[in-house]
Amino acid sequence: VNLMESVLQRRSLQMRNKQHAWEESPEGKKMLQARMSLPAFKEKERLLQAIAQNQVIIISGETGCGKTTQLPQYILESEIESGRGAFCNILCTQPRRISAMAVADRVSTERGEHLGESVGYKVRLEGMKGKGTHLLFCTSGILLRRLLSDRNLDGVTHVFVDEIHERGKNEDFLLIVLKDLLPRRRDLRLILMSATLNAELFSNYFEGAPMIHIPGFTHPVRAHFLEDILEITGYKLTPFNQVDDYQEKLWKTKRQQLPRKRKNNITLLVESALSESSFENYSPKARDSLSSWIPDCIGFNLIEAVLCHICRKERAGAVLVFMTGWEDICSLRTQLKAHPLLGDPNRVQLLTCHGSMPSSEQKLIFEKPPPNVRKIVLSTNMAEASITINDVVFVVDCGKAKETTYDALNNTPCLLPSWISQASARQRRGRAGRVQPGECYHLYPRCVYHAFSNYQLPELLRTPLNALCLQIKSLQVGSIGEFLSAALQPPEPLAVQNAVDSLKMIGALDENEDLTHLGEYLAMLPVDPKLGKMLIMGAFFRCFDPILTIVSGLSVRDPFLLPHEQKDRATTAKSKFSAKDYSDHMALVRAYEGWKEAEREGSAYEYCWRNFLSAQTLQAIHSLRNQFHYILKDAQLLEAEATLNNSLSHNQSLVRAIICAGLFPGIASVVQRETSMSFKTMDDGQVWLHPNSVNMRYETIPYPWLVFGEKVKINTVSLRDSTGVSDSVLILFGGGLINGVSPGHLKMLRGYIDFFMDPTLAESYVNLKQQLDQLLQR
Ligand code: ADP
Ligand code: MG
Repeated sequence: VNLMESVLQRRSLQMRNKQHAWEESPEGKKMLQARMSLPAFKEKERLLQAIAQNQVIIISGETGCGKTTQLPQYILESEIESGRGAFCNILCTQPRRISAMAVADRVSTERGEHLGESVGYKVRLEGMKGKGTHLLFCTSGILLRRLLSDRNLDGVTHVFVDEIHERGKNEDFLLIVLKDLLPRRRDLRLILMSATLNAELFSNYFEGAPMIHIPGFTHPVRAHFLEDILEITGYKLTPFNQVDDYQEKLWKTKRQQLPRKRKNNITLLVESALSESSFENYSPKARDSLSSWIPDCIGFNLIEAVLCHICRKERAGAVLVFMTGWEDICSLRTQLKAHPLLGDPNRVQLLTCHGSMPSSEQKLIFEKPPPNVRKIVLSTNMAEASITINDVVFVVDCGKAKETTYDALNNTPCLLPSWISQASARQRRGRAGRVQPGECYHLYPRCVYHAFSNYQLPELLRTPLNALCLQIKSLQVGSIGEFLSAALQPPEPLAVQNAVDSLKMIGALDENEDLTHLGEYLAMLPVDPKLGKMLIMGAFFRCFDPILTIVSGLSVRDPFLLPHEQKDRATTAKSKFSAKDYSDHMALVRAYEGWKEAEREGSAYEYCWRNFLSAQTLQAIHSLRNQFHYILKDAQLLEAEATLNNSLSHNQSLVRAIICAGLFPGIASVVQRETSMSFKTMDDGQVWLHPNSVNMRYETIPYPWLVFGEKVKINTVSLRDSTGVSDSVLILFGGGLINGVSPGHLKMLRGYIDFFMDPTLAESYVNLKQQLDQLLQR
């Protein structure tokens, strides 16, 4: 122990010398100046003292005041200064991987170091840290995973949980676990950081922990709402008959709920919303459906008009546009690129900002644009709090964010662009006042803003809990329900029950809610349990390669781009990859393999262009594949002899069966009529295929079932991706859900099984036989 102690002391000394050298260098001095200008600096001593005296504290302050980059660094510096640098071990969690990486990068620059020296990061499947790393930025998911194997966080001295105001499910989950840990680790310090001011909520949760607020500096930002914007830009709202058919379809399903007088014309609707008095007269339900219309009919043209106005008439300064999601960002970018002013690279630098962008592009966002060029960043709500772009003077806020809501009653996650909260809208607006007074263009009427809820619903209450429940189980903290009831705002019991049922269904939990062997492995894999199961099955059945692509694709996003204006050409391009497989998943595999081939030939760019594929997404899928591969190898789930893992990859029916095994119980039956086809699931009844699915193109599908990865509810329930499977595959690979198969099919299967299967094979075979016999008797 003494030896260890002295090694650490020596290292601490070295760290101090290094820190001093940097502080005295010219670059170091300059950096220190910049850091000292941040509002957090004035509070430094008070903060350090509070952290020393209390086990838990809660810090709030405006975005950009220096919470994330400065506070953990203050601790590190003061520990180093007092000669204890090598003894401290600081963790700081971020909700998103990109912010963990960006912040770690920034902090190591501020310390005059390379990433991975005293400051590092670790995010899912990726990291940069070394022996000398004492401040680690990680995602909240990573810390949760670490808690699985290291329940007391041995050796950790400080834990920062950042952005708790966002109420992400991992953060809420972490708080339960950490609250439970604190009495066992009296020396551990927990610091919660939040942007907006609902600090009391967290303080109460931690028995009245002290709160410290960092007063910020921001310049005033003028808010323009839709009514003002129409006046400023002279823009005319699009009449109903000009909106495209997708919106028309939406409109048809919605209009029943609207006052009849207003049915004819969206323009009228919006206009009525613009006059506050008439909007107030609507019932809450009508108001809801009315306000949900506004962004749809405004569309991209209004955004274009606002951007033009800024570029032509306004002073210099970057523009930050908040969009609902990645798809919208892509389509808008395509539209703007074609614009004579906005698409001219000599006048406008058009950048995007979203969760999985490559770091080269990420850097550009923070950099100054060339002289006389205006920087426009199209972003998801990513840039709302976790990333700060300093030179933003103009914000355009569409008022919506794509968030998953979860409908526990029919167990469907719904991915809907929904209205943001007032807190988010204020936050977005505040992004324009970083360096000088700013302007914010809210693309919705003022009265709609007043109808927003104050805060957003915590994620724990609006997502399926499968992966979370699996992790709770492997934390060995007792019953899942009881554990979750200790949350800040506990989820509905029904949502918990659904998650437990679904984990039982895929075989991760047994009848007593205990982890099975499969469950133990699945808890280790950083993917959705169903996809984890698909990976493991792919490895066992030796068709690992295509399955790896499919799982990575499902975890990243669809690489097929379907720009609005070229929908037909894009769909045709996509369907070329389907080759009568009746499978979106196989189409993905083909597209990916084609891309690899094109890359080898040096024609990847043309390949993507021709086939409407996103090179960026393919690249992300590619790197995720490598990482999953590594993890499975590490968990010893792959054969040592690499070729063995893929000896059956060419076997299409097998691959189809493994897709079924993974996506089960995501199953829809195909109801074939003479002239039409319809689809049904157990939970929802009638469902539809997503317009982007390759299966949309067939008049008949020669399979009785479709397995699907994701269903989304946008007015109706639709299956985003699907693969046709046969009865036998469903029965053999799908597990318990066989009640819908016809007796004729069952008899045939029973025959198959007796004929083909070696009775000594497995006990599951006996089970299957019994199940089939039972069904046949009914
Ligand atoms: P908070 O966590 O309070 O929102 P941060 O600590 O993330 O604030 O950022 C503090 C300040 O550091 C920002 O206002 C910005 O000036 C600067 N900063 C942060 N990241 C970068 C970066 N990658 N490049 C340049 N400056 C940055
Ligand atoms: Mg921050």
